[in-house]
Amino acid sequence: MQHSHPRNPLGRPALAHLPTPWPEAGRYEAFYQECFPFADFDWELPWLEIRIPPKATAEEVYRRLPSAPDFEYGGYLTRTRIRYARCEPCIAYVPSSKTCTFHTHPTAFGDQADVPSGRDIYQFLRGRHCRTITVGARLLWVWDKTPATLTVARTLADWEAINMLPECRRPARRGGPDWIGEYIDVALQQLRLPIPPGTERSSKCWRNSWPDMLRTSLGLKVAVFEREALARRA
Ligand SMILES: [Zn+2]
Repeated sequence: MQHSHPRNPLGRPALAHLPTPWPEAGRYEAFYQECFPFADFDWELPWLEIRIPPKATAEEVYRRLPSAPDFEYGGYLTRTRIRYARCEPCIAYVPSSKTCTFHTHPTAFGDQADVPSGRDIYQFLRGRHCRTITVGARLLWVWDKTPATLTVARTLADWEAINMLPECRRPARRGGPDWIGEYIDVALQQLRLPIPPGTERSSKCWRNSWPDMLRTSLGLKVAVFEREALARRA
């Protein structure tokens, strides 16, 4: 008769802050090598580090993610560490070859900082990371890919294989200040990225209506947490 407790296959406590491994990791890797072979950033920066306490819940870990009023951080999470680097005022570099990544928005932007951008979605679809966290002023958005997300990502890859160069040339020729951003907007239109109705870009409105839209249209698993509420609980 079996009396022993079921063992974690890794021999470690459950790590709630990391996504559960993709069921067929080899196929996941193969998908990204086929569809987005050049979208993979794997830097070894002089990372700053925050230690993750053992047995912390996912919320407790994500509450420890750093942020700043006037620039962005980008980084990733390991079993025991948050590793991150200071980035640009409005751009974060996310090492998308890691399983679980994050970036932050400048908190001085208030409500606007609390809503992930189209560029955030675009980069998540194209990168190998399975989970990514956007740290706003008050909110944390946690996105996980599902098999349905890969179907959407393939649609993007197929479209880009034909259209990326001509669609990049168009805004680049016009000489706009953000031609990459203009291109990403066009690419996301192909995926019918849902935008909550109404003109009010309040984090409350987006928090209420966007998660279901992202689940339905992009197959993302979405969780949204309050940063402050988590801090009070600590
Ligand atoms: Zn962002």
